[in-house]
Amino acid sequence: MDNKEKIYNKLMDIVKEENVKVDEMLRDHLYTRLGGKADFFITPSTYEEIQNVVKFSKEEDVPFTLLGNGSNLIIKDGGIRGIVINLKHLDKISSEGNTVVAQSGARIIDASYYALEQHLSGLEFACGIPGTVGGALYMNAGAYGGEIKDVLDYAFVVDKEGNLVKRLASELDLDYRTSNIPDNGDIVVEATFNLTPGNYEDIKAVMDDLTYKRESKQPLEYPSCGSVFKRPPGYFAGKLIQDSKLQGTTIGGAEVSTKHAGFIVNKDNATTTDYIALIEHVQNTVKEKFGVDLEREVRIIGEDPE
Ligand SMILES: Cc1cc2nc3c(=O)[nH]c(=O)nc-3n(C[C@H](O)[C@H](O)[C@H](O)COP(=O)(O)OP(=O)(O)OC[C@H]3O[C@@H](n4cnc5c(N)ncnc54)[C@H](O)[C@@H]3O)c2cc1C
Repeated sequence: MDNKEKIYNKLMDIVKEENVKVDEMLRDHLYTRLGGKADFFITPSTYEEIQNVVKFSKEEDVPFTLLGNGSNLIIKDGGIRGIVINLKHLDKISSEGNTVVAQSGARIIDASYYALEQHLSGLEFACGIPGTVGGALYMNAGAYGGEIKDVLDYAFVVDKEGNLVKRLASELDLDYRTSNIPDNGDIVVEATFNLTPGNYEDIKAVMDDLTYKRESKQPLEYPSCGSVFKRPPGYFAGKLIQDSKLQGTTIGGAEVSTKHAGFIVNKDNATTTDYIALIEHVQNTVKEKFGVDLEREVRIIGEDPE
């Protein structure tokens, strides 16, 4: 039995046959619609299965990579070796008193609308962020003056030894678009948000207003990874890109959005190679014109194509 077959059999034991795919095309699962194949693509449906995958990965030295909705992640065209874990089956959302408890594969947009239905205020800011709850905690997602840090009470994570551990929000070092989740190697499996009772119509009015603002400013008609660059101190990335006359520039199927200069859209079946070349072109042009280094917000992972 070769190693690939051994890994496949073990993963089937852990998460069941229907939840293991081999050589799965990742772009089909990601908001960006970019990225090559995963050796093994698995979709666990319990916390225990995740714990067992982490333990197996450690024991057998098979690397794993965690994917949310792929809205802040660019995967290269050569794909990802080893195991890719996707938590789309862990998407339950419930509430107790003034809290909303969401499994990490649930969309943060759904958690936001769920809170509205419970007449709970605090997650309005998240009503248009196209990531999962896990992805939102990982980078302390935020918008329009709100962020995860304001509302998170605690999370359950699977740590790198495979233990299920409770982490208080104060233990996660949540800061502007960062947390210590990557450094700790934690997999978030569940989050509890502490919200405030509010009036349904008032909460909905805020969400409608934010949705209108987002739809009028962002190129939501195309796949993208959102804002590609962090805000450089003292500047706005979008303004620098606009003033560099880069909007509408294309490489292959990737384009600097004509609607929002901070976005690069996958307009016409772009490859990741196109996308990365365009990111670098934008960085070089802005550096040349304004002397400012644009740091990527979005992570790029995976292998170069052969
Ligand atoms: C149109 C558009 C608009 C956006 N607007 C905003 C915005 O207003 N504010 C904002 O903050 N972001 C915004 N984003 C970026 C993105 O949606 C957020 O960063 C989101 O939180 C990413 O979640 P995801 O599930 O897509 O994560 P992914 O992109 O899949 O992954 C990002 C990182 O999170 C890690 N991760 C994912 N799930 C888990 C987990 N369960 N446990 C541990 N690590 C995990 C991954 O390993 C990866 O390193 C936008 C993106 C787009 C495309």
